[in-house]
Amino acid sequence: MSRFWSDHVIELAPYTPGEQPKIAQLLKLNTNEHPFGPSPRTLEAIRAATNDGLRLYPDNDSTSLREAVAQLHGLTAAQVFPGNGSDEVLAHIFNGLFRHADRPLLMPDITYSFYRTYCQLYKIPCQIVPLAEDFSIRVSDYTAHHAVKPAGIIFANPNAPTGIALGLADIEAIAMANPDVPVVIDEAYVDFGADSAVALLRKCDNIVVVHTLSKSRSLAGLRVGFALASKEIVEGLQRVKDSFNSYPLDRLAQAGAVAAIQDTAYFERGRQAIIQTREWLVKQLATLGFEVLPSHANFVFARHPDHEGAALSQALRDNGILVRHFSLPRIDRFLRITVGTRENSERLCNTLSEILLKTH
Ligand SMILES: *Cc1c(COP(=O)(O)O)cnc(C)c1O
Repeated sequence: MSRFWSDHVIELAPYTPGEQPKIAQLLKLNTNEHPFGPSPRTLEAIRAATNDGLRLYPDNDSTSLREAVAQLHGLTAAQVFPGNGSDEVLAHIFNGLFRHADRPLLMPDITYSFYRTYCQLYKIPCQIVPLAEDFSIRVSDYTAHHAVKPAGIIFANPNAPTGIALGLADIEAIAMANPDVPVVIDEAYVDFGADSAVALLRKCDNIVVVHTLSKSRSLAGLRVGFALASKEIVEGLQRVKDSFNSYPLDRLAQAGAVAAIQDTAYFERGRQAIIQTREWLVKQLATLGFEVLPSHANFVFARHPDHEGAALSQALRDNGILVRHFSLPRIDRFLRITVGTRENSERLCNTLSEILLKTH
C-alpha cells in the first residue's frame, strides 16, 4: 500500500497466474502450456524478423496476421481483432462491450477467473450463474427471460477449469435468445476437441469468439490472441485499443504468429498427440480411482473420493510435479492437470499411484 495509489487500486483483486518456478527437473502441469515447442517455421520467421527493422514501429493493425487468421477461418480481415495475448483482447472486450451502467454480465460460477478480475477493474456488475450439478453449463439459465437486460454473456468453451464443452446448437440457442447482447465465447482450448462458434458468426452478429496462440500453437511466451466477430464489433474494439496502446503486437510477435497460423501440419500433429495422450491419461486416472470430468481441452479436471485436492497437490509438488489446485467452493477437491507428453503423463500417474498407496 502506498498513499500515492488511486482509490480503485486498493480495491483490486488481481488475477493470480499459475506458478512459473525456476527449479530444474520440475514437471510443469499447472498452466496448460503445450509440451512441444512451437513450429520450426515460427522460430525461423522470428529469427528472420530479428533485424534492423526493429528500430521501426510495428504495423499497428497487424495486417498480415489478420489476413492469415481470416484465411484460416473463412472470414475477412476486418473481422479479426488481435491483441497482446487473449487476456488483453478480453480486457478490451470487457471495457468496450460490457460497460452498461447497472446491467450485469452473466457468467458461470466456475469459469476462467480472470473474468471476475476484469469486472472489478472496469466496475461491471456480474451475475453469477451456477453450473449444473455435473459442472455443465445449463443453457436454459441463459435463454430464459432476464429481468434486467444483461450487459453481456461470457464463458469459456471448453470451459476452464472443467474441460467440459458445450455444443454449437446450445451456443446458437443462447445467442439467438439474446440478440441485443454480446455473447463472448472464449475458445482458448477449442482446438483440443470442441466445435468452434466461428461457424455461427454468419448467423449471429452478437457472437464474439476469442482465440489464443498460447495453448494449441505452443506460443504462450509470444503473447498473441485475437477476437473474431462482426466488422462493427471489431471496429469498437479497435477504438478501445487505440485509446490504450496502438502497438500491442511487436514485430517479432506478428512475424511468428503468421508463421504459426500457416503451419497447419505441425499444429495438427501436436494437437492430435495431446488428444491421444489425454484419452490415455483419463483412463489411467480412472484406474487410480479418480473421477475425471469429460475433457475436450489439454487438461483434465479430476478428484479422488478419498483424498483432498490440496493435499494431493502438495504431495505432487514434493515429488517435483506442479498441478493447479483452486481453493474455491465446489471445486476444492479437484486437481487441474495439464496433458503433457506421454512420458510426462506416465510420470504423473506413477507418482500419484505411489502417493495414494502411502497415504491410504
Ligand atoms: C490461457 C487462457 C487465456 C489466456 O490466454 P493468453 O492468450 O495467454 O492471454 C484466456 N482464456 C482462457 C480460458 C485460458 O485458459
